[in-house]
Amino acid sequence: MESIEIRKSLKQDTFEGVDFLDLDDLLTDEHKLIRSSIRDFVKKEISPYIEDWAQKAHFPSEIVKKFGDVGAFGPQIPEQYGGGGLDYIAYGLIMQEIERGDSGMRSTASVQGSLVMYPIYKFGSEEQRNKYLPKLASGEMLGCFGLTEPDHGSNPSGMVTNFKDMGDHYLLNGAKMWISNSPEADIAVVWAKNEEGRIHGLIVERGMEGFTTPETHGKWSLRASCTGELVFDNVKVPKENLLPGKSGLGAPLMCLDSARFGIAWGAIGAAMDCYESARKYAAERIQFGKPIAGFQLVQKKLSEMLTEITKAQFLAWKVGKMMNEGKAKTVHISMAKRNNVEMALNIAREARQIHGGMGITGEYPIMRHMMNLESVITYEGTHDIHLLILGQEITGIPAFV
Ligand SMILES: Cc1cc2nc3c(=O)[nH]c(=O)nc-3n(C[C@H](O)[C@H](O)[C@H](O)COP(=O)(O)OP(=O)(O)OC[C@H]3O[C@@H](n4cnc5c(N)ncnc54)[C@H](O)[C@@H]3O)c2cc1C
Repeated sequence: MESIEIRKSLKQDTFEGVDFLDLDDLLTDEHKLIRSSIRDFVKKEISPYIEDWAQKAHFPSEIVKKFGDVGAFGPQIPEQYGGGGLDYIAYGLIMQEIERGDSGMRSTASVQGSLVMYPIYKFGSEEQRNKYLPKLASGEMLGCFGLTEPDHGSNPSGMVTNFKDMGDHYLLNGAKMWISNSPEADIAVVWAKNEEGRIHGLIVERGMEGFTTPETHGKWSLRASCTGELVFDNVKVPKENLLPGKSGLGAPLMCLDSARFGIAWGAIGAAMDCYESARKYAAERIQFGKPIAGFQLVQKKLSEMLTEITKAQFLAWKVGKMMNEGKAKTVHISMAKRNNVEMALNIAREARQIHGGMGITGEYPIMRHMMNLESVITYEGTHDIHLLILGQEITGIPAFV
């Protein structure tokens, strides 16, 4: 206990930022301003409390309105619908800064922006956009995205959730699992099959009879984010709640492209936080009469961390530029998500080693980031599925089935 108290007094601010190859040179003044305002927000509203929230598996519902106020919801959605009207690099930087605080907090923001607001903006009617987007942007409303089912994760096309046309409404049945934000969400964008087996998006509102959102307990990862199921038992969904703009699996996959792009940036934030914490710890921790930062093996770890973060930053930036130009394809985003999340997880593991025993405590953010990243490497397409997407691009042969 005494050593933890001593460590506390040595703990320093870890909000300097990592920019070894001057990525800032490629950013606009607006990008830098946005990054710094989100950084300040995270420093004030998330970092002082996150360890406690994560330890207690508590989702701080008051953060939703605060995210809305700071512009973290739907920064890439046009301003006329309450979004930020910003480009994809700004969006990425926002995700990076939030995930420096915590991947669970970033999950809340990226689900809202990319998986709820994006499909309503892209595939919704004008009435749906006006009804939901401003409230989602301001944090007055929280949304979730239901694609994964208990028996259909990597293969969502096999989904069994379905709806029938009853004349004046649709009747929705089925269940979704592993849904971020679900226990607190006011609305769910749900992907379900019609009677012909075609996938459509439907907006399901809390309070509709037969719709429940049981919480998933016992997670060792993303503990400050709430996760749950979506259960539909003969839910009557008004016909005007069907997203009219696009059907088929391509619709949810387009949303996932946008969210995965944000994850590629977010993971850099988690990696930066681990690296900065490890660098400071190594400078302060004395063993064998000198700071452990002076040992070659510790320097190797820190050098490799900095190199990998730097490579990941340029990969994310380039994909962001392609997103802005409308040139990014799913494979590009798969490469960025896969590479950057693995990079962050490896850095978290190495940083944990540098912190020695202290690395397993909540005094430092390392173990929390590491556990969080175990979800991030699995959700929105597992590490191996993204590898197979790249494999298909290279060889022309799909190896999924
Ligand atoms: C904390 C958390 C939050 C989530 N939030 C959401 C959300 O908001 N909305 C949502 O819809 N989903 C969400 N998910 C679900 C997530 O997207 C799925 O967990 C993910 O797609 C993997 O599905 P699965 O867990 O069923 O694993 P499975 O698909 O069963 O995969 C298990 C293993 O088999 C491998 N595998 C599967 N198929 C193949 C293949 N063809 N070839 C080689 N290997 C294969 C996978 O790579 C993996 O290693 C969330 C998950 C978690 C953990």
